[in-house]
Amino acid sequence: MRIYLPEVKQKQGEALHYRFQGKVKDYFDESADDESSFTLALAVRGGDNEIIISGEFQAEIEVNCSRCLRPFQQLLNSDINELFTVSPLPDKKSSPGELALETANQLIVSGDYLYLGEYIRQLFILSQTYNPICKPDCRGLCAGCGVDLNEGACSCEDEAQIDLRLLKLKEFHPGK
Ligand SMILES: [Zn+2]
Ligand SMILES: [Zn+2]
Repeated sequence: MRIYLPEVKQKQGEALHYRFQGKVKDYFDESADDESSFTLALAVRGGDNEIIISGEFQAEIEVNCSRCLRPFQQLLNSDINELFTVSPLPDKKSSPGELALETANQLIVSGDYLYLGEYIRQLFILSQTYNPICKPDCRGLCAGCGVDLNEGACSCEDEAQIDLRLLKLKEFHPGK
C-alpha cells in the first residue's frame, strides 16, 4: 500500500483515487482466515509538504460472537479523513524528538513513495469491536446449561416456569 508522491504533487491539489484490496492475514493478522479481506478506497491530494487523504476502510473478518461464541463474518468500517505532514525518514543523526514525531504521524516516506501500511494497521485495530455480536437480538448461551438459546429453549427455562407456577400455588395456600 503505497502512493507515488510526484504523481500527487503533479495534480496540484486535484484528487487522485486509489483502491487497495487484500487479505487480512497478509497485512494485519497472520492468524486471520482466508475469507477475511479488506478494501481501502482513497482520494489523495496534496502539495509539497502535506497530503490530505480521505476515503473509506472496510474489512470483513471472522470473529466469535461474545454472546453465543459462534464464529461469524463481521464487517468493519472506518472513515478516513487525515491531513499528513510529509517528512522524510529520519537519518541516524536525528534527535529522539524527531523520531517520536515520525511515529505519531504513522506515515513513512521513503524515496518518492508514501507507505500507508502502519496507518492502515492502526485503523484496522481501532475499528475492531471489543464485544462483537452475531446479530442484535442474539440470545446467547444459557447461563445454567450452556445451550445456545438461538436454537431453542433449554430445560432451564421450563424449570423456571415450573418455579413460577409453584410460586402461584403458594399464593393460594399462604403459610403452607
Ligand atoms: Zn451470537
Ligand atoms: Zn439452560
